[in-house]
Amino acid sequence: MYRDGVQVARTEMALPPDVPYGFTALPQYTTERLLAEELHRHGGRIERSTELVDFSQDADGVSLRLRTPTGDEVVRTAYLVGADGAHSVVRKGLGLSFAGDAFPEEYMLGDVVVDWTMPPGYAVRCTRRGPDGAEDGLVAIPLPGRGRYRLSMLAPPELRRPAAGGSADGIVHGLEAGEPPAVHHLQAVVDRLSPEPATVSDLRWSSVFRISHRLVDRYGIGRVFVAGDAAHIHPPTGGQGMNTGIQDALNLAWKLALVVDGLAASSALPLRVHVVVAPELGAAFADAGEPCLVDSAGDLAAAYGMRGGDAVLIRPDGYVGWTARPVTAAALGAHLAVLTGVLDLSESPGQVPQ
Ligand SMILES: Cc1cc2nc3c(=O)[nH]c(=O)nc-3n(C[C@H](O)[C@H](O)[C@H](O)COP(=O)(O)OP(=O)(O)OC[C@H]3O[C@@H](n4cnc5c(N)ncnc54)[C@H](O)[C@@H]3O)c2cc1C
Repeated sequence: MYRDGVQVARTEMALPPDVPYGFTALPQYTTERLLAEELHRHGGRIERSTELVDFSQDADGVSLRLRTPTGDEVVRTAYLVGADGAHSVVRKGLGLSFAGDAFPEEYMLGDVVVDWTMPPGYAVRCTRRGPDGAEDGLVAIPLPGRGRYRLSMLAPPELRRPAAGGSADGIVHGLEAGEPPAVHHLQAVVDRLSPEPATVSDLRWSSVFRISHRLVDRYGIGRVFVAGDAAHIHPPTGGQGMNTGIQDALNLAWKLALVVDGLAASSALPLRVHVVVAPELGAAFADAGEPCLVDSAGDLAAAYGMRGGDAVLIRPDGYVGWTARPVTAAALGAHLAVLTGVLDLSESPGQVPQ
């Protein structure tokens, strides 16, 4: 990290060996290829040029109206997961709110080769405060390839677009249409901020983008769900959007699989779920109206390292949000009070199985 051309920090981001994949920076086309291959491996396929126009649901399923190159068709499915991005038709069709706002800044990105003496494999962050007090910044993330980086920085005035830029729903997020940055735009920022003279070349891809912060009020209604950018958009400081979106999908998928396999009732399909091993603990959560999965087969218990009296909460995004090992009346009461906003079982510990 450099401030005003002077190195102020250097962080080694080594991870413990039990973290499976470490830090991986892949170009988007590689990520898309890997995801498509995995989908094919599981028997799925992508139907390009096929648009969901609208949908309706009833107790037994969901009817989708699709627009294809050969005309409209109606498809009936058991469930619908809208992973259709920030302008999601599924989210709008469900009438979910998407509270938040756009950040005023506009940024630009470019995949380029940078000729400098920075050590390979390190991200480089350079900031400088201008005479007007405004912070100017450049972030260079290493990509596979000799000297190749993704540069990210504020867009210059000549590349900026009006805030509502062509978006009918008023949501501005992601790459913007229009003139992409050229090498000279990126070089100008590097000249201003790099701690040493550096040359930018071999521009492979560039774009201007905006960031918003928005979140749905709930992740689904009935048989229809949203995942990924359809459900939440945020800057990278709030989490890597693709990674968090994949975690939504993973978390939803295993729960849907339980329902499809007849192991859970769809009416009880929980997006936030507590997992316990002991059936009597399940009753305590059920009394509080909180979704609870009693893992009698022990699969989840093994995955989460649980014993009989333990409870874990798996959040909608798939993360473990709370653990109690073992559950005490006070801990459970305090936890449920936070979740429900009303219930505090710590006042009546007799309700909680020991
Ligand atoms: C500049 C930039 C850099 C980023 N870098 C990273 C990063 O390094 N790491 C990371 O984890 N995340 C990153 N993100 C975030 C990441 O790109 C998104 O979070 C991620 O792409 C969201 O995936 P998604 O599938 O939910 O939505 P999208 O990627 O928006 O995909 C939605 C898909 O649905 C399709 N679609 C939309 N409407 C319909 C419809 N009605 N019918 C049929 N199909 C439809 C769209 O065509 C699109 O293919 C970055 C984002 C930006 C803007």
